[in-house]
Amino acid sequence: MQLEKEDQARFKRLGVNSYLDLALLIPYDYENLLLDGTLHVGVAQLVDVTVNSVVRTPSSIKINLYSHNFSHSLEAVFFKPKPYMQRQFLVGERYYLYGVINCSGGHCTISQPKKVTNIAGVTPKYKTPLRNDTMSRLMQKHLTHENLASEGLNEKIIKKILEVHFPKETIAIKPKTSFLPQYLETFKYLELYNNMRQLSQKRRYFPCKEKLTNTYEEWSKSLPFTLTNEQLAAIKDIQSDFAKERATKRLVVGDVGSGKTMVILASVMMARPHRAVLMAPTTLLANQLYEEALKYLPSVKTALVTNKTAKIDLQAYDFIIGTHALLYRELPDVTLVMIDEQHRFGTAQRNMLDKLVSSSDTRAHFLQFSATPIPRTQAMIQTAHIDVSLITSTPFIKDITTKVIHKEDFSSLLEHIKDEIKQDHQVLLVYPLVEESEAFLYQSISEARAFWEKRFDNVYVTHGKDKEKEKVLLDFRDKGDILIATTVVEVGISLPKLSSVIIVGAERLGLSTLHQLRGRVSRTGLKGYCHLFTYQEKSERLDQFCKTKSGFDIAELDLKFRKSGDLLKGINQSGSEYKWVDLSEDIEIVQEVKRDLGI
Ligand code: ADP
Ligand code: MG
Repeated sequence: MQLEKEDQARFKRLGVNSYLDLALLIPYDYENLLLDGTLHVGVAQLVDVTVNSVVRTPSSIKINLYSHNFSHSLEAVFFKPKPYMQRQFLVGERYYLYGVINCSGGHCTISQPKKVTNIAGVTPKYKTPLRNDTMSRLMQKHLTHENLASEGLNEKIIKKILEVHFPKETIAIKPKTSFLPQYLETFKYLELYNNMRQLSQKRRYFPCKEKLTNTYEEWSKSLPFTLTNEQLAAIKDIQSDFAKERATKRLVVGDVGSGKTMVILASVMMARPHRAVLMAPTTLLANQLYEEALKYLPSVKTALVTNKTAKIDLQAYDFIIGTHALLYRELPDVTLVMIDEQHRFGTAQRNMLDKLVSSSDTRAHFLQFSATPIPRTQAMIQTAHIDVSLITSTPFIKDITTKVIHKEDFSSLLEHIKDEIKQDHQVLLVYPLVEESEAFLYQSISEARAFWEKRFDNVYVTHGKDKEKEKVLLDFRDKGDILIATTVVEVGISLPKLSSVIIVGAERLGLSTLHQLRGRVSRTGLKGYCHLFTYQEKSERLDQFCKTKSGFDIAELDLKFRKSGDLLKGINQSGSEYKWVDLSEDIEIVQEVKRDLGI
């Protein structure tokens, strides 16, 4: 974009970096300065008038007019007129006025009209830090067919954009809501095109250190189970990435329990004979992954690196698993970098590991794994800057009964808990707070624990700030019946005997959080239960949650409920970065944009 200095400053004030950004600053209304033979009641329009008579007082001016365009008399009223106005509007003179006309009983008035000297057709009105005439000139100059085409937009879209900014006739825009549907699609497209193009421009391609071409099939036959189709699909995505000259950058997203560890292990196999490193967010999780690697990759020399492990020479190992302690160790040459539960690391930490093992001109292949399902539309948008594989199913269908419970269900809940413990199963109770709080409806952990400790043995308690929480979780896994915790406790480890989770004050939590909590039970095929305890009598959101199993469907449900919440709060407080795009609906437009951008 080549701009003169002045325009550069204007673009900066508008926050505009491209012609696409400029096109997205759509008018909120139009001034229709076309003479029209029809009177449109309640709508601003231009009239061609001659003054018949004037009544002036200091607080108002009332003018009796004859309107030439619809041969009708008209009264113009100005309240609190400026002094110079007292000298305007002379009897017998002809003017153009612009304003909203209202009629009652054949008597029509135009209140506070604007005097117009230039009849300029339909003028868009913009709400920006710039004056409207400056804005109009800026648009005339820069929003040209040529400039829009230089951004790669197709003819159809360009035509519609120009119609909105330089209309031949007024376009009906309802203030603040939306365009006519024919333009809504255009601006959804444009918004996505702009966003996804920026994302794809941010993506950097680096040559890889090594192409990785070992196979995984032999290894997968050695497993005690067959990989699911979606596990296989993710592994094949990675296989084709590995065979390329450029370094892989892929995110694998799958619900808790969808079997992402097998994708990690398959990647280690495909990287043979080169070295792989895997970073996990907690010592517990690193330990667990290490044990799984020993079990399923017996031929691979695997090392564990945490704050608690002795410093060993990592050169002797093919697969290094660790916590962020890895970032402070001398690492040998590594060709594949993986991060498990990537959402629990900051971007800086994730990139640091990648950089540690990369030279200036080549990069290791980089895989990240996330257990936070995102709406499919969003996943597709993300493919503009990182490749994405989704695992939307789990190896075995978890049999979890989810239901909403109330105060009156408490005694049957107690029976249920006793019953589960009798079968050597474990129960997780999630409370909203650690300490009691006056303003809060629900009990906190400190208020509730005595109740449970009195009635049950082997009750364990922990929470997010608890320094001992990893130890408590391990003890609970081996010896516990009941675990009392807050939502902030991320139970990264498997609790194979956990069959029930009871969430107190469930209506306060997002559906994704509820789903994460529910995902902790029944991880090894036990019959599971998820009870949502609430004082709220009826909740459509919780009822829908009970019926929905897949994390990806839940993410979409969350979107829908947030959207309906937004309608109450008003547009643009949604926290969504999109003004027009609806992530719960517009997947087809995302596909179209993806195709058009060639990504
Ligand atoms: P995630 O990391 O996605 O939360 P895991 O990789 O820990 O899930 O897998 C959950 C459980 O499912 C583990 O006990 C794992 O051994 C088992 N598992 C993984 N893949 C399969 C499969 N294809 N068939 C049966 N069980 C599987
Ligand atoms: Mg995992």
